[in-house]
This record gives sequence, C-alpha cells and structure tokens, in this order.
Amino acid sequence: MVDWSGGNQGAAKPQADAIWACIARGGVVEDAVYLRNRQLAEAWLMDVIRAERAAGRRVLLGFDFPFGYPAGFGAALTGSDDPFALWDWFEARVEDEPRANNRFDLAGEINQRFGGMGPFWGHALKRDIAGLPRTKVGYNSPFAARREAEARATGAFTLWQMSGVGSVGSQAMMGLPVLARLRRHFAHDVSVWPFEPLDAPIALVEVWPSLTVGPAAEGWIKDQWQVHDLARQFAALAPARLAQMLDVPANPEGWIFGLGHEAELRGDATPLRNDCFALPPGVNWTPVDDALADLQARLTPVVAIETLPVAQALDRVLAADVRAARSNPPLPNTAVDGYGFAGGRSAGPHRLPLVAAQAAAGLRLDMAVPAGSAVRILTGAALPEGVDTVILQEDVEVLDGAVQFNGPIKAGANTRKAGEDVMTGDVVAARGRRLTAADLAILSAVGVPDVKTYAPLRVGVLSTGDELVEAGQVAAAGQIFDANRPMLMGLIRKLGHVPVDLGQVADDRTALRGRLDMAAGQADVILTSGGASAGDEDHVSALLNEAGAMALWRIAIKPGRPLALGMWNGTPVFGLPGNPVAAMVCTLVFGAPALAQMAGADWAEPQGFDLSAAFEKRKKPGRREYLRARVRDGRVEVFASEGSGRISGLAWADGLVELPDGALHVRPGDPVRYIPWGGFGL
Ligand code: AMP
Ligand code: MG
Repeated sequence: MVDWSGGNQGAAKPQADAIWACIARGGVVEDAVYLRNRQLAEAWLMDVIRAERAAGRRVLLGFDFPFGYPAGFGAALTGSDDPFALWDWFEARVEDEPRANNRFDLAGEINQRFGGMGPFWGHALKRDIAGLPRTKVGYNSPFAARREAEARATGAFTLWQMSGVGSVGSQAMMGLPVLARLRRHFAHDVSVWPFEPLDAPIALVEVWPSLTVGPAAEGWIKDQWQVHDLARQFAALAPARLAQMLDVPANPEGWIFGLGHEAELRGDATPLRNDCFALPPGVNWTPVDDALADLQARLTPVVAIETLPVAQALDRVLAADVRAARSNPPLPNTAVDGYGFAGGRSAGPHRLPLVAAQAAAGLRLDMAVPAGSAVRILTGAALPEGVDTVILQEDVEVLDGAVQFNGPIKAGANTRKAGEDVMTGDVVAARGRRLTAADLAILSAVGVPDVKTYAPLRVGVLSTGDELVEAGQVAAAGQIFDANRPMLMGLIRKLGHVPVDLGQVADDRTALRGRLDMAAGQADVILTSGGASAGDEDHVSALLNEAGAMALWRIAIKPGRPLALGMWNGTPVFGLPGNPVAAMVCTLVFGAPALAQMAGADWAEPQGFDLSAAFEKRKKPGRREYLRARVRDGRVEVFASEGSGRISGLAWADGLVELPDGALHVRPGDPVRYIPWGGFGL
C-alpha cells in the first residue's frame, strides 16, 4: 500500500505528507517504509516488484490517488477515452526532480486549452502561473467536479485541486507517470484495476485510506499508520473475499477499492439480518441437529474488531489468521551446553583445539570456527559459522586448550534447525480461535506484536415471571427465588463472554418491552428465561412475535420446551425455558455454539466420549434426551430423578449424558455418550 505525495521531497527524517509504503507479505504486515521523494519511491517499487516476481509471488499494489479523471477529460487531451492514453500523455509531459517539478505549469497549460479558468485550480507560488487560478475565484471548469466514485466517498477531494490540503490533483498528475512506466516496464505482467481484468501477476489498484482507516494509533505518523492499517485490512481478507471486492464494473474514470465494503474492511460490528431465526414453514418438531445446522448457517459475528497487543489478548477471539513474522527458532542453535564444531565424528578418540571465544544465547558469535576446531557453546546460542554439531559437555574432557571425546557422534547432533518449529509465514493461530496462554507464547516467539481480535460478546441476562424474587429478598408464599439469572450469568462468564445483568421483570408486556429496549444498547445478545411458550402469560414470545421477527422453535429435545428466537431492535434474543434444568440444557446445547459464533469464534461442537452406563433407561423415539450425569469408577451415573424441577441434580452432575433421537433401551454396561461440562466449553 502506497500513500503518495505530489509535492517536493520531504525531510530526511520520516515525516507526514511524504510517500509512505507498507508491505503485507504472506499475511504478515511489515514495518512501513518512508520514501522522501518520488524518485526513491519509483526505484523502491521496481525493486519490490522484481524481487516478488523472482520469488514467484503475485503482487497487488495499492496507490492512494485516482487512476482516471472525470469523463471527457482524457478524450479532450488525447482524442481517446482510453485511460492509459492519458497516463502516457502525462508521462510524456511531466518533469520531476526531488526539488522541482512542472506540475503547476502543466496544469496551467491544460487550462489554457479550455479557456484558462479550469478545470485545475489552486497554487501558492510567488510567481503567477499562466492559466492556473490561485483560488476558485472566477473558476470555470468544462468537466464534472467529481468522478462517480468520489461522489460515493464522503470527504473525497476533487482531482482538479492542485494545492492545499488534499491536493489530489497534484498527486495524480505526479503519480500517473510513475504507474505508466511500471506498466511499460513489466508489460504483460501488469493489469490495472478497474480498467482491465486482473489476470496478470501484478495488479495496480486505486485505494483511499481515509475510506476505512481510523485515526493514527499513538506514536505513529499519520501516513505511516494509514499504509500500515490499510495493508493489514487487505491482508486480513480471505482471498475469495478480496476477489469479490475487486469485482467491479470496468470504468474509464477509475474506481476506489472498498466502496460499499467499508464496515467489513474496518472490522465494524455487522448486525444480524432480521429474518435470521425464521423457521421453514410447516415444520412441527425440529430435530436438534437441524436446529443447530440452521443456527450455524445463519449466525455471524456481531461484535467489532479491535487490535490488541499480544500480552493483552488472552481469551480474546482472533478476527484474522495470524502468521509468523519470524521463524522459530530464528537461527539454528544448540539444545545443550557443550562444544560445537563442523561435521560428525566416527568411533574412537578425537581431539579438537578450542577457539578463544564462547557462543552464548542472545548474541550471535561473529567469528567463523575453523574446520577441525571447536567452540564452547551454551544452550540456546545460535550456531556460529563453521558449527553444525554440538557434543554435550558431560561427554568431553577439556585439556590444554582442546576438547577430547570419544565418537561416534552424528553430524547435526544436539542442534535445532532454524524454523524446525515454525517457519516465517506459517499460520500460528487461526481466525476464530480463542487465545490461550500457550498461544500468547507462540505468537510472541514468532515476532507478532499485536493481533486483530473480536471485542468480547456482551450477553444480557433477563429473568421473567411474576413469581420471582431475588436472593436476599423476602419470599412470600407462592414466590420463588430467581435461580436462572445467577446460573446463566455464570455460564456466560465460563463460556468466555461478558454477562450483563438485566435484572428481572414481571409478566407485564409494557415493563418487558421497556426492559428489552434498554437492554438493546447494553448487550450484543439477550438471553431471557421464562415466558417463552405460547400461553397467555408468555410475554417474551408475544413481544418478539409483535416485533415481527420471532420464531418459536419447537425443538425435539428433553428437557426443554420451545425456544423463542427473535430480534429486538436488531439485537438477537434467545428466549429460554423458565425451568432451570431446561434453561441450562438449552443454553449448553444451543446457546454455547450460537454465542461462540456470534462472538467470532468457531462453531463449538460439544466434545463428549463414550463410557459404559451404570444405569438402566428406556426411552421413546422422537426427542433427543439429556440426563444429568457424572462419572464414578469409570462408569456414567445419572441423577436419580429426571424431574425437571430438580435443580439440585444440576449441581450434583459433572456433565450430561446425550441419548440419540430414536428409541433406546440402555442397560448397565452399554456405551453411552457423556459430555462433561468442559465439553460444552465451560
Ligand atoms: P415459564 O416458562 O415462565 O412458564 O416457567 C416455567 C417454570 O420455570 C415455572 O415453574 C417458573 O416458576 C420457573 N421459573 C421461571 N423462571 C425462573 C427463574 N428465574 N428461576 C427459577 N425458576 C424459574
Ligand atoms: Mg413464567
């Protein structure tokens, strides 16, 4: 990605408003490069393209100036609508040196062909420029002020402005000759977007950082940040997605990459569609697997993307694959303390003189060890030149400045190869992974300073029911304590999300509506419990129905009554059953994978295993059943009562037994599928 400049050369010290470029190679974003003038930039571009082609790689080059002009301009100058005719026209006329160029005079000459008061305007030189107005006073242009693309990009500057902030006119005029030369030099290897199909290995693409790059992070120069972040955005796109975004109609005015895809490139949160919970009509009881497949197909991440230093990214979900910026180990090194030399040695005694140096971890010894000599070397030290084999210090004797030992020893013994663990460019952690402490270790080891992560998913938890009182309050006869909210808040936390306490609300439609309205701003997803069926007091489903975006998912599962899934003002709502046992089972079976996917993580398949049953059970066909269970002496026990009101059984259990949808007679000793709480991600 290149941030261009139309002016004279910048200071020797990196500064804003000069040329900056940044390479993302194999998914790794490198340090941005400061190029103080266009001559340096052109030579640098040539070198980069040559090197990448020699390595057999394709290159996409993004430049932040327009590749074409408003309709009619090119034809007026060149007699042709071919945008490349205009590139060549400029290339033949622009004179450019680090401290001087003819851009204002050329703009003035062009203006004089059209009456001298446009299309170009703006300069602040001491001398007057024939045909180029200093300001827009009296300005008169025969061409449109903006290209079609600029009209769609808020804040884009016009190509006719030659000086001042955003003098895109100067940038394009001084940039197109360089592109014209690159195109001529690399000939058939170059395609230019969107004028030609991108079927050549080098693609030139118009970009505009301001479209998607936010304010510079602390400590960065604005242009440096822009090319860095833009390169990161490109690198984060899956190749197929990049191809789709590049697929725009050919347009002789040129186009700006990313128009219409700004939120996706920025990594903003993308809301779910209002119909994402719609059920196929006519379905009565949906099998568990069908319901899960539907959720998996329709749910997408709803949280924003943010970049964090690796050290702060524990438990965060990765929003893009992370590739090694450096191999691990970076250089061949020694796995032991000992003595290094070149080559293996046969059986029998050996004596090698020692050089007067020591190789220790941290600093590469900058001397070569002569053939036939050895060097003292300590664990982790990079192998000095002339060393490929290390003998353990316990296996030698050091006498009179030489080491003595008995062979045989194989060449390469006790050493580690560069990149034997990870090679530069390898994916070390994939998109969708929730980062563990071990991930932080490997990411750091391969030189990754920060990672693109999803913001934590905020999950609101709301209890509904006239009968509920909170722990600590006095419960009148007929009232019960709210058990679901503490349980659900705990489950959310254990699943790696951020629980948001939305309190409890009575069976009152107005109160519930108010609470959901309030919640929509505080949570990315809402879990409610109670009131989810189709009865008179089932206000959750009634309200979601009213909002027009509800589906009552009658799922063939026991325990669990219908799940009310819907959208409230753009926020997904999971209406769980009120019964705590059913609420927990539904949260683990449906909530855990669904929330994971909305948090940007991979769909979470519960991880269970087969163990022999310590119980007997007959089950009818038609519903999948989950029994509260635990393992004792290698066999699975189930809770004595299947009563769905028995909350104590949830606490007794360490997991669930999952019985398939069909009829079944389990006898003691038969294998059954046991899923420990951890298998659900808790
Ligand atoms: P509902 O789905 O609202 O008809 O509730 C089903 C059953 O679950 C009823 O016996 C409720 O009293 C009970 N219930 C609902 N919410 C809770 C809660 N937060 N804590 C404990 N039990 C509840
Ligand atoms: Mg209720």
